[in-house]
Parts: sequence; C-alpha cells; structure tokens
Amino acid sequence: MVIMSDGVLAAVRAFVARIHAFEPAAGSLGDLVVRFNGDEARMTITGPVARALAEALGAYQDPRDHGPCDACGGHRVDDNFHCLDCGHLNGLFGQLVAERAARYRAEPSPELEG
Ligand SMILES: [Zn+2]
Repeated sequence: MVIMSDGVLAAVRAFVARIHAFEPAAGSLGDLVVRFNGDEARMTITGPVARALAEALGAYQDPRDHGPCDACGGHRVDDNFHCLDCGHLNGLFGQLVAERAARYRAEPSPELEG
C-alpha cells in the first residue's frame, strides 16, 4: 500500500472511523490532532480507538527490520544479516560467513610459500 503525503491524514481518519464504528457510544478520552504539511485532522479518541491505535502501531513490522542484532541489540541489520551499527554478522548465516572468513584468513597464501 502506497500512501502519498496527502493520504496520511486520510489514513488516520479512516482508521479511527473504522474502529469507532464498532462502539460509537464509547466515551471520549480527548482529541487527537494530527498536522501534516499544512493540513490538520482532529479526531475524538475513545478507549477502543486508543487501544486499537496503540496496538496497530506496536504490531507494525517494517519489512526492513530483520530483528535485533545478537551483539549490540540494534535494529539496523541489513538483508545480509550484517549489523550496520557494530558490524556483527547475525544469525546462523552470519555465523557461517564469519567462520568461513576466519578460516580463509587463517590459511597460508600459496603465493607466499616456498
Ligand atoms: Zn550490532
């Protein structure tokens, strides 16, 4: 799903309206005001809407997020399981690459022998 900049407010409004429809009699907790590029959306937030918003934001999984780094706990692990923060190679694949690299470095170079 691609959301253009003018669609951000519409997406938030649509989400709030969709959840609010399940329990329209729920009491207001207050207003949520979202301002974006000069446009503003003001929405009344009820308990069910607040819970749904928090759960939706918490459940979002970015496709670029490969989980935390085994070494530093950072979340900038690239597609090759390489941590962009500390350089650690993560997971079983990363471990295999690191072991192979270490073995390669340990082997004497044939050109230097003799
Ligand atoms: Zn790391």
